[in-house]
Amino acid sequence: MYPHDAACLCSTCVLEHTQGLSPLEVLDAIRQREQDLIARIGWVAHALADRPLIHTHGLWERFHHLDLEIRLAVSPEKRYALLAPVAEAVTNGQRFAAGDEDHTLFSVPIRFIARDESERQVLRVVFPDPQGYFPDDSHCPPIWAEQVLQDF
Ligand SMILES: [Zn+2]
Repeated sequence: MYPHDAACLCSTCVLEHTQGLSPLEVLDAIRQREQDLIARIGWVAHALADRPLIHTHGLWERFHHLDLEIRLAVSPEKRYALLAPVAEAVTNGQRFAAGDEDHTLFSVPIRFIARDESERQVLRVVFPDPQGYFPDDSHCPPIWAEQVLQDF
């Protein structure tokens, strides 16, 4: 549904864009590409390698909306596919806040909670497990309940 390279800064996409460059040139190219993407489509995504996290940059500077985050132990591609519609909605003028529950973006409801990162606060998008249980329900399996962990 969303092309992998739309706002993706995963290592695969970065490699494709930085072939033949020195390490410093690679950093410059990544930074430049981030700024281009934020200017052009409003956000970029960072998939973290050591935790099941993906988050956006750009929504705060472009739309004064908290950047978004998803913490879910699924593949990075799946995390990106879940993040993109929410980020797109923000670029189209929708606003979300901690405590909100949205029923419009997916076939299941999603919830928003505030979480701290090292240098900023983000809005984490929380998904129900396939049975419909959110982390605050005792029936929610641990792997889905971990969506609410505070990592830093
Ligand atoms: Zn980042």
